[in-house]
Amino acid sequence: MTSLTDRFEIDRRKLLMERSVPGRVGVSLPPLDVPAAVLPDASMLRDDLDMPEVSESELVRYFTQISQFNFSIDHNFYPLGSCTMKYNPKVNDEFASLPGLTQIHPLQPESTVQGALKLLWELQQLLAEITGMPGVSLAPMAGADGELAGMLMIRAYHLDRGDTQRKSVLIPDSAHGTNPASAAMAGFDVVTLPSDADGNTDLDALRAATDENLAGLMITLPSTLGLFDAHILEVTRIVREVGGLVYGDGANLNAILGRIKLGSLGFDVVHSNLHKTFSTPHGGGGPGSGPIVAGERLAEYLPAPVATRAEADGANVYAFMRPANSIGKLGAFHGNFGSLARAYAYILTMGKEGVPQTSEDAVINANYILSQLRDDYDLPYDRGCMHEVVLSARSLKRRHGVSALDVCKRLIDYGIHPPTMYFPLIVEEALMIEPTETESKETLDHFIAVMKAIAAEARDDPSLLHDAPHDTPNTRLDEARAARHPVLRWRREASD
Ligand SMILES: *Cc1c(COP(=O)(O)O)cnc(C)c1O
Repeated sequence: MTSLTDRFEIDRRKLLMERSVPGRVGVSLPPLDVPAAVLPDASMLRDDLDMPEVSESELVRYFTQISQFNFSIDHNFYPLGSCTMKYNPKVNDEFASLPGLTQIHPLQPESTVQGALKLLWELQQLLAEITGMPGVSLAPMAGADGELAGMLMIRAYHLDRGDTQRKSVLIPDSAHGTNPASAAMAGFDVVTLPSDADGNTDLDALRAATDENLAGLMITLPSTLGLFDAHILEVTRIVREVGGLVYGDGANLNAILGRIKLGSLGFDVVHSNLHKTFSTPHGGGGPGSGPIVAGERLAEYLPAPVATRAEADGANVYAFMRPANSIGKLGAFHGNFGSLARAYAYILTMGKEGVPQTSEDAVINANYILSQLRDDYDLPYDRGCMHEVVLSARSLKRRHGVSALDVCKRLIDYGIHPPTMYFPLIVEEALMIEPTETESKETLDHFIAVMKAIAAEARDDPSLLHDAPHDTPNTRLDEARAARHPVLRWRREASD
C-alpha cells in the first residue's frame, strides 16, 4: 500500500495529461459579444484532439511544480568545472534592464545612442586593461564564436603576407573541446600536442612540431586541467620564433583577472567569456558573449564593428568603425548588448580592488577543496590548481566499481549540482570541480563533507550509488537514449 507521503510524490510526478478529468475546465469565457467567426472546413478540424482538462488551480500548481525541478545557482551550489557557475549579482541585471539600454534599436542613428556607444567603448577599454591587449571587438556572440573569429584573423594575417603554406595549428591535449573545432572550421589542420607529466605543454613535442608551415598555436590558459602552464613564456617564444601566432583561450579569465596580463605573455589574440566571468547568467543556451582582444599584429583584422571615440567641438563623440583589414561581421548587429551591459556594470561595481580579489578567492576556494579531498579521490596532477580542481574517481572505480558518473548522480540526491565529468579527456574518470569565488566556507565545507560521505558509501554500499539519484522526479536515465531518442511529446499510447 502506498503511504500518504508516497501519494504526494506520485502526484507531484504526474504529467498534466495524467491529471486530466473529463469535463473539468480551467477557464470561464464571457458571453460572446462579437460576431461569430466561421470555422474552417470540417476536414481541417479534429474531434479527437487530446487536451488536458484541469482546473486553473491545478494548472498553476503543475507549472509551479515543474519549474522547481530546474536546478540553478540561485537554488544551490553548482560547481560545474569550466563553466564558472558563480552567483551573478542581480544589480547587474537591473542595470542592463534600464529603459535607456533596452528601448533602443541597433539601427538607430549613432547620434541618438551616444550613451550606449559610450558604454561599449568604455567596456572595450576595461577589457583591454584587464588583458593587457590594446585591440578589442565585442562582436562575438559566444566563446566559440570568438575562437572562430580569432582563427580567421590569424588566417587573414598569414594570407596577407603570402604565407599560404602556413596551414597547421598546434593545440595541446589539455585544450577546451571547442578549440580544435574552431581551428578546423577556419580551414586549418589541427595537430594535437601532448601534455607532460606535470600537466604543462610538452616542450620537446612542441619543438618537434614547429616549422615554417605553422600558422599558430591555440592554448587554453589556465588549461582544462585547472593548471597554469608553467612553460607558457617558452611556449609562446617557440611559436613566435618561427613566425607563428598565438591564440589564447581565456574563457576562464575568472582565474587570472587583474593578476596577470595575457598581453605580456606573448599572446596575439584571446577571447573571454562574459557569460562566465562577467555576470551574464548562463546555462540552457541563453545569450552569451565572447569578446576578443588582440595585440599589435592582429588588431587591424578584428571583426566589425568596434566602438571608437573622437573629439568634436570639445565633446566626445562615439561611433562604430570597421578595422582596416577586418575579417567582417559575425552577426547582424554588434554582439549581445545585454551581456555587454551586464559585464560593464559588473566590472565597475567590483572596482580596481574587487576584480583581482575575485580571482584570488576563486583560486583559494578551488585549492581548499583540493586539499580537503585529496585523500578521498585521486589527484592526477599533484600541484596547486587555479580556479578549478580536476580530481579522479579512478581508485573508486577499481576498488568498488563506482564511476565518476555514479558519484555525480549521487551528488544530486544531496541537492548539489554535479561537477563536469569525463573532461578533460586526458584524465580517467575525471571530476572537474569549479567552486568559484562566490561561495562561503560553510558551503565548501558542506560540499567536502558530502564528497567524503559519497566516497564512504562507495566502499560500504556501492549499489546505492549505481542507482542514484533516488530523490528526483526521474531516477537514473539511459543518457545516450535520452539524447538520441528524446520523448518530447506526450502521447496517449506512450502513457498506457
Ligand atoms: C566555455 C568554454 C569555451 C566555449 O565557450 P562557449 O561560449 O560555450 O562557446 C571555450 N573554452 C573554454 C576554456 C571554456 O571554458
